[in-house]
Amino acid sequence: MFDTVLVANRGEIAVRIIRACREMGLASVAVFSDLDRLSPHVLAADKAVRIGPAPASESYLRGDHLIEVALSEGAGAIHPGYGFLAERASFAAAVEKAGLVFIGPSPESIQAMGDKTEARRRMAEAGVPIIPGALEPTSGPEEAAETARELGFPVLLKPVAGGGGKGMRVVSDEDELPGAFESASREAESAFGKSAIYVEKYLARPRHIEIQILGDQSGAVVHLGERECSIQRRHQKLIEESPSPVLEPADREAMGLAAVQAARAVDYRGLGTVEFLYEDGEFYFLEMNTRLQVEHPVTEFVTGLDLVQWQIRVALGESLDFSQEDVSFSGHAIECRITSEDADQGFLPATGCIDRLEIPSGPGVRWDGGIRAGSEIGLHYDPLLGKLIVHAATRTAAIARMKRALGELVIHGVETSVPFHLRVMDEDDFGKGDFTIAYLEDHPELLRPSEGDVRLLALVAALLEHGAWGRVGAAGIKELDGRKLSAWQTSGWPWQT
Ligand code: ADP
Repeated sequence: MFDTVLVANRGEIAVRIIRACREMGLASVAVFSDLDRLSPHVLAADKAVRIGPAPASESYLRGDHLIEVALSEGAGAIHPGYGFLAERASFAAAVEKAGLVFIGPSPESIQAMGDKTEARRRMAEAGVPIIPGALEPTSGPEEAAETARELGFPVLLKPVAGGGGKGMRVVSDEDELPGAFESASREAESAFGKSAIYVEKYLARPRHIEIQILGDQSGAVVHLGERECSIQRRHQKLIEESPSPVLEPADREAMGLAAVQAARAVDYRGLGTVEFLYEDGEFYFLEMNTRLQVEHPVTEFVTGLDLVQWQIRVALGESLDFSQEDVSFSGHAIECRITSEDADQGFLPATGCIDRLEIPSGPGVRWDGGIRAGSEIGLHYDPLLGKLIVHAATRTAAIARMKRALGELVIHGVETSVPFHLRVMDEDDFGKGDFTIAYLEDHPELLRPSEGDVRLLALVAALLEHGAWGRVGAAGIKELDGRKLSAWQTSGWPWQT
């Protein structure tokens, strides 16, 4: 059917897809903007084609151009990755119209799930529990107020075409509603080109738990367990894990069944994720992402399946060679998203040139990265530099392993979110698995360096000043605030102890 895949993306996910192609004996064509000329995905692919200047609108988002490149390079399929064109039904349709294979679901499935109110209607019909609220876009602030009174405040105003947490507004009483409606519509219009808003009940302290599903072209669908994604900032995921620390086997089975039902309701094929909010033992459909997810590696670790290869195999027309009963789960996996955001300055976007990069290794550690030494980090694209994923027998062991691996990760030249992740790994509620999507509101201290970090930094600065770095051990300073200093190195972050 096809032996060459054009990867219409960049960064870590493009590298991930190219690796899967190579292992499957498929050739890969990378595409790149001027800024990405020497990026890892370009170097990893069999071939690479320049598609335009840095702005995504002039490169990675030019669907028609990408299709032309695929045709002229002899690629028979396009893998969209995530973001960019991955959930544009019109792009999937144009790919198919050009006689190419779109590695993803049908344009109809993307369309049905991309419109949040249509998705809610389809799910309600299929018997999947949805968050209480409207099934149609709201005509204006008055109707929104009426729905809100029926549901009870607080409510959430959400763009029908939403994504990336944009345009949502929590409204806690009626007086706030007109203003919030106005600003949500405006933001939705500018982010998605559609101002339509709908109203749903705002759940105060749910967890975000999602189910990975995989379907083939004959209609077989299995679920591959859950991912706990409650550790978020501004509705964007920071840390994901599998299994969830709270799901009982019966919950897992019920949510898995609901996810499979959701997929069947839109004739889903390939990889997809059904997201739920989970509160007090109840779960509610949030949305379905009709693509490969950033956090897929945690599922790969606990199931032992290669999800990207399966996605491609389904696109090649292969049937699943296993059933739900054959899916088994082993151990615990955690992923930290490593971004070019300054964890000590409120996640301020950071830029710079990576002059040194050291990647952790050892048992149960995986790095999916899109950077190398020499990479220029600007503001044109998503700040995700890479993902650090660990796997161990238990959650406690996985946390210890993540701390060890974060300690070994050295990224010099740009501020990153690594210090934040280290603080979370040390935090008690995280350790106990006791958290909701309000975790960072409950723990604002995690957004700044701790006093211990600052003292460590001061000590490091003093030692450096005196050229005494190599003599930390000799000086007898082995511990500060209970943190061992033995693994220090001049290249590492000072708080990597
Ligand atoms: P988007 O498509 O913009 O990413 P989602 O519907 O997937 O939006 O929601 C993103 C996040 O917003 C969720 O993970 C959750 O943290 C929060 N959220 C969404 N809907 C609700 C709700 N009804 N109540 C509370 N939090 C919500």
